[in-house]
Amino acid sequence: MTANLLDYDLDGLAAFCERLGEKRFRATQLFRWIHQKGAAQFDDMTDLAKSLREKLKTTAHIQAPPVISQHISTDGTIKWLFDVGGGNAIETVFIPEDYRGTLCVSSQAGCAVGCRFCSTGHQGFSRNLTAAEIIGQLWFAEHFLRKHLGVDERVISNVVMMGMGEPLQNYLPVVQSLRVMLDDHGYGLSRRRVTVSTSGVVLKIDRLGQDCPVALAVSLHAPNDALRDNLVPLNRTYPLDELMQACQRYLQFAPRDFITFEYCMLDGVNDTPAHAEELVQLLKSHGKQGWCKLNLIPFNPFPVSGLKRSSHSVVVAFAKVLMDAGIITTVRKTRGDDIDAACGQLAGDVQDRTAVGKRIAKQRTFSLVPVFDTQPQTLKVPGT
Ligand code: SAH
Ligand code: SF4
Repeated sequence: MTANLLDYDLDGLAAFCERLGEKRFRATQLFRWIHQKGAAQFDDMTDLAKSLREKLKTTAHIQAPPVISQHISTDGTIKWLFDVGGGNAIETVFIPEDYRGTLCVSSQAGCAVGCRFCSTGHQGFSRNLTAAEIIGQLWFAEHFLRKHLGVDERVISNVVMMGMGEPLQNYLPVVQSLRVMLDDHGYGLSRRRVTVSTSGVVLKIDRLGQDCPVALAVSLHAPNDALRDNLVPLNRTYPLDELMQACQRYLQFAPRDFITFEYCMLDGVNDTPAHAEELVQLLKSHGKQGWCKLNLIPFNPFPVSGLKRSSHSVVVAFAKVLMDAGIITTVRKTRGDDIDAACGQLAGDVQDRTAVGKRIAKQRTFSLVPVFDTQPQTLKVPGT
């Protein structure tokens, strides 16, 4: 088995090159070929000595997980399903907007947290993704999009770790991938434009603040412990007071001066005016004015959840209570609804873990794949 170079951040690649008897600057060249130019073949790396290319051919490879399917929404959102082996698939979603292109990346196959309103949570946990599988999603998407849009400049300006999985329960590979995203020789993304979303792994929030402080989003979903214990079972390990304090500590290192809280609006469960008042009290009692923003997410229903989306008027009334209390509140637009690319719907197709179920799921998605080359007009290029 040769080494997959997508597994390394720049320091790791330098160590790898040293083991081959090469200087560090060679690692920088190699890293730029991989991440800035999207090269997968060593022979394409024309400014590397032939002898080094030969060594690399026998010791290394560059490979993202294979794509199982690609769906393009009428709003330009693209969803890819990647095969990570053992019958597991993960999903990655590209969301084009006028002035940015956001990639929603997965960190695990399945998820062990088991939130009631999340389709990934209902699937259970399969395994952690490797750094190559995490950064491979960005590597593939960025270079695929550049090629198919015929552009040389960066297409993906923002990354959110909001796909499948709890990023802070796969800490080291996630941090390694974040470093590649931020590295000027890699994707050169600003810390403010890379967001880790977590259900509240308090110890790892602290560690992230030390190791690689990027923008932080915390999935809150309830204003008190009793309700949050039920919706987000990790709350039983890290209750709200501890979580709020960890958020305050993170602010000292965060690239933005606020934390974003995500709150999925569930009909009759967490969406009453009393819940909104309780949320105001919780947030106000744990920080100064402006320390957080709230993002209300319309629930994306899936059959076995037994939950329903709050009506628009309820969401508006909820938002008003928060805004009247001075808390900046936004309501998230849903994107890619027609291709099940919205939050919490990811990889619903591979729920059935039997061999037959997996085959059917794959066939079903295959049959839906539009041929990208015939539909580039459905893509809106960010910034145009
Ligand atoms: N595990 C991390 C990141 C992945 S989930 C976390 O929980 O934060 C990304 C976001 O989607 C989270 O805010 C999550 O609460 C939300 N989400 C999950 N299922 C959803 C659903 N069915 N409808 C709307 N949002 C959902
Ligand atoms: Fe896991 Fe996040 Fe889904 Fe909860 S919402 S089950 S933490 S992916």
